[in-house]
Amino acid sequence: MTNILWLQGGACSGNTMSFLNAEEPSVCDLISDFGFNVLWHPSLGLELGDNLQQLLRDCISGAISLDILVFEGSVVNAPNGTGNWNRFAHRPMKDWLDDLAKAASFVVAVGDCATWGGIPAMEPNPSDSVGLQFLKRKEGGFLGTDYKSKAGLPVINIPGCPAHPDWITQILVAIATGRIGDITLDEFNRPQTFFKSFTQTGCTRNVHFAYKASTGEFGQRNGCLFYDLGCRGPMTHSSCNRILWNRVSSKTRVGMPCLGCTEPEFPFHDLKPGTVFKTQTVMGVPKELPPGFKKKDYALMTIVAKDATPRWAEEDMFVV
Ligand code: SF4
Repeated sequence: MTNILWLQGGACSGNTMSFLNAEEPSVCDLISDFGFNVLWHPSLGLELGDNLQQLLRDCISGAISLDILVFEGSVVNAPNGTGNWNRFAHRPMKDWLDDLAKAASFVVAVGDCATWGGIPAMEPNPSDSVGLQFLKRKEGGFLGTDYKSKAGLPVINIPGCPAHPDWITQILVAIATGRIGDITLDEFNRPQTFFKSFTQTGCTRNVHFAYKASTGEFGQRNGCLFYDLGCRGPMTHSSCNRILWNRVSSKTRVGMPCLGCTEPEFPFHDLKPGTVFKTQTVMGVPKELPPGFKKKDYALMTIVAKDATPRWAEEDMFVV
């Protein structure tokens, strides 16, 4: 049996909603097939008030083995413990987190707020929010650079706004079945199995990217969203086009540009109107190019690609 405790800091519950939609494996599979025991979860937990407080204290003392602590939301550091009072257990969440992280065998941060601070940590960050072990790209966060859980690992970061449900459940299963050692973490403690490739990997619009055939409208089935609509797919580490959402689709597949939500800087440009969904350019060259791409090569590629583009690449190939 694997005991799991899920707590929320400064959060919108988006990752909880995502988690409850997991399919491979589902939350029910975690319980019935993989022996998970949900000690408490904001949407599934039964204990309230004193009972919840006792449960948390038992986890801290070791009376209950805390195998996996999952944290969703930013850690709010407002003065005198204000800002994120755990209304069920009468203590600032950051204090519970501090104690529980010391007792947990594994700690998993789910979603951008828990991993990097997310939207609450954008300047001027009035609640002094941070992620568990990072503030944006800067190491440290709430638990500090040197933090390791009892199993000897740093916080395992599963970013996204929200994180894909199956990324969450598959990592939980890897921990419960003793296979987490096979999973390499990248420099931001993200499991490489989900975050080594780019959102663009598997995007159905790759052929349009290659031919520099752009779309200027949302929801169009043809054309790449990078050249005009600010798609961050080529610069964003995620498997959104390999492990599809609801097993069916992804943002870019339905004509919505990738916003780069698995990267520490999200939300880019503060999501200000006129900056998102618009490719920022200088003399016609995007300010941000895919990693490893040189600006002079981009200009060359543009000339060649435009010259080589077949007519079908400009047409809606799905209309028959
Ligand atoms: S739509 Fe985005 S992810 Fe897809 S090919 Fe174009 S730039 Fe890449």
